[in-house]
Amino acid sequence: MPAFPFSLNDPIQHHGPLPKTSDVVIIGGGVIGVTTALFLAKRKISVTLIEKGRIAAEQSSRNWGWIRKQGRDADELPIVIEACRLWKELAAECGEDIGLNETGVTYLANSDKQMAGFETFMKLASAYDLDTRLLDSGQTASLFKGISRKFAGSMKTPSDLRAEPWLAVPALARLAARLGVTIIENCAARTLDISAGEVSGVWTEAGRIETSTVLVAGGAWSSLFLRKHGVSIPQLAVRATVAATEPLPEIHAGAAGGADVAFRRRQDGGYTLAPASHRLYLGPDAFRHAMKYMPALMAHPFGTRYSPAAPEGYPDSWSTPRNWTADAESPFERMRVLNPAPEQSSLEAISRNFQRLFPQFETVRLKTAWAGMIDAMPDIVPIVDRVEAITGLFVATGMSGHGFGIGPGIGRVVSDLIQGNAPGHDLNRFRLSRFTDGSRIRPGPAI
Ligand SMILES: Cc1cc2nc3c(=O)[nH]c(=O)nc-3n(C[C@H](O)[C@H](O)[C@H](O)COP(=O)(O)OP(=O)(O)OC[C@H]3O[C@@H](n4cnc5c(N)ncnc54)[C@H](O)[C@@H]3O)c2cc1C
Repeated sequence: MPAFPFSLNDPIQHHGPLPKTSDVVIIGGGVIGVTTALFLAKRKISVTLIEKGRIAAEQSSRNWGWIRKQGRDADELPIVIEACRLWKELAAECGEDIGLNETGVTYLANSDKQMAGFETFMKLASAYDLDTRLLDSGQTASLFKGISRKFAGSMKTPSDLRAEPWLAVPALARLAARLGVTIIENCAARTLDISAGEVSGVWTEAGRIETSTVLVAGGAWSSLFLRKHGVSIPQLAVRATVAATEPLPEIHAGAAGGADVAFRRRQDGGYTLAPASHRLYLGPDAFRHAMKYMPALMAHPFGTRYSPAAPEGYPDSWSTPRNWTADAESPFERMRVLNPAPEQSSLEAISRNFQRLFPQFETVRLKTAWAGMIDAMPDIVPIVDRVEAITGLFVATGMSGHGFGIGPGIGRVVSDLIQGNAPGHDLNRFRLSRFTDGSRIRPGPAI
């Protein structure tokens, strides 16, 4: 079975060379880095985006492809509403088929208690005039051809979208490049060059680039990179397993979760399947930040399983160096693409559970399977902010398992932050200082 939806051996698309100078340098070629670059380029700002491996080869291609407003944190909701509009505009502008479809997202409820729990989001949905609605048991059954289980009901947002991540983010990167962004793959940022408290450049494995403005959008690596410069963020990463079935007759066109398997119809006629749990590898950061994660663990106690150590070279491995210099190999280029092995027991469980849910499929054959490291924050919402202590340094990370859908919204917001414009949304909940200013940690909806 091939291990990943696209081949990491495909030739590199974005070569550079590294310019001597750039108005803005973006570290990280995931959906956040790519869309921020794109919106800056639309304002004629010179941008260089450096990616240690391949565009979107980490989380931004490995995700389920759900673009949902449903179930969002109240402060993320207006940004993801904007993101849904932007996805449609960018899909048209990039001129490539990224598999964008308005097929809805459904959360299935096993009990009346779970149905009652949906009321919190229903109030928000009504405040924003969303098309979200609650469905009873019979209405829920009618959404899915041949479903074998009876659910108490469901919550559905028909206007939610889906897209194929491994097509979408590389297509947006090509659009950004056409708009003038210099993108360089296989180019790790090693350290920042900081003079008198201000960013003056970035040291990369290909040399130094002069700049006054840097965005760290490094996904699961952001904490390791920032800590080297005295900026501590309580970010951890969990491994999540995903599988893609061979093409199957359509039982539902959109995405659904809440049973013991989450599923989404894919453009190729198969389904992307995933379990409800993920795995945390314990490492120095996990212990350092453990207390900050207590509220989230108490709110969602059964979603996380644990292993005593991450494989070598992972951001929070016991052996990963926490210090390095600009003139020697850094942990970032040592692990070009974080490509965790999928969990075998999860794969067996999800294909079995999907088959039981839709018994008309006599067998559910998996075409491929993979895993990704989801970067998370203790309150399950991101950091989107400037770093007060280092002039010119911005951070957009910790998307906490739902950064694909909101990606273009965050990219637009960050591009305005960088330009000193009003971001158009209240970003207080996403401030960097919330983990150090004595605020209570208030977990958002689960990963
Ligand atoms: C299994 C799974 C399922 C998910 N499902 C969904 C979903 O259905 N919907 C949804 O909205 N979200 C989902 N997510 C979450 C979503 O994929 C992420 O939140 C989002 O992709 C994060 O984007 P990013 O740009 O912040 O990080 P990433 O995509 O991880 O990109 C960061 C990039 O930075 C690069 N980098 C790091 N350090 C350096 C350095 N020093 N120098 C150069 N480059 C560097 C990395 O190589 C990487 O490519 C899922 C995630 C996973 C793993």
